[in-house]
Amino acid sequence: MGRLRADFSDDTVIVTGGASGIGRAVAMRFGEADATVIVADLDEEPKDAEVPTHEVIRESGGSAEFVETDVTEREQVETLVEAAREFGGVDVMVNNAGFHVGASILDLDEAALQTALDVNVHGVFLGTQVAAQDMLERDDPGVIINTASISSNLAQYDQVGYDATKGAVRMLTRGSALDLAEHGIRVNAVAPGQIATEFVEGWSEEATEKASSGGLIKPVPLGRAGVPDDLPGAYLYLASEDASYVTGEFVHVDGGWQVF
Ligand code: NAD
Repeated sequence: MGRLRADFSDDTVIVTGGASGIGRAVAMRFGEADATVIVADLDEEPKDAEVPTHEVIRESGGSAEFVETDVTEREQVETLVEAAREFGGVDVMVNNAGFHVGASILDLDEAALQTALDVNVHGVFLGTQVAAQDMLERDDPGVIINTASISSNLAQYDQVGYDATKGAVRMLTRGSALDLAEHGIRVNAVAPGQIATEFVEGWSEEATEKASSGGLIKPVPLGRAGVPDDLPGAYLYLASEDASYVTGEFVHVDGGWQVF
């Protein structure tokens, strides 16, 4: 089967959490589609590969930069968005950086929950607000895409803290879509299922093993865990002109997890 071809050669795309995992795969696909890609992360070194994302894009002939960013810090997010101005300004803001906390409500550590709220909720809020303000200042409305989760809709055992943050991403997406629609800025989210990344240490192998052996609490209808490369197509679609009438929407990329 064929793959979608996209042309983002006029666009500058910021991907937070773009050093590793899903963000890395998304950044690389935008790079393949000729976008100028700004990878933002705490550290440029990937958790799951050798060569930093922006270097891979450049080595393939693309245009990419790395901007060290903590998405929980307003000033750093402002610097990030300003960095895009050198390339004409941010057209697509992908708020993807995330932090996982796993525990029952009885044992949930307050400090870990606070970090998850800071990164997953405050980080998405800042990325959305700063990018949208910049787009309006330049009079050049673009697209915002948040990485949500199956956890935005469904509870899972020992995930209450993480679920709460991703539930908030759902309403941040919808509320921002509503507020920004009159300005021509679209806001959507991609909701991945269980994707084999190093999001939780050792999860990559565990997720693959559990999903393929039916060992998850709920079986994945498509019979396997996802991999980062399963995700970018949804982001490219939402960023494209083909999605110009789509806002406040969630695209689930979860192997059918939510169908039953
Ligand atoms: P990952 O750990 O491979 O990538 C997350 C990236 O975010 C890392 O590079 C990390 O350094 C970066 N990051 C963390 N805190 C940051 C901060 N404060 N500022 C800037 N960057 C920061 O994990 P992943 O699985 O690729 O996760 C990406 C997104 O996908 C997250 O939002 C996560 O919640 C979401 N998600 C993942 C899964 C999954 O199964 N892996 C499922 C649903 C949703």
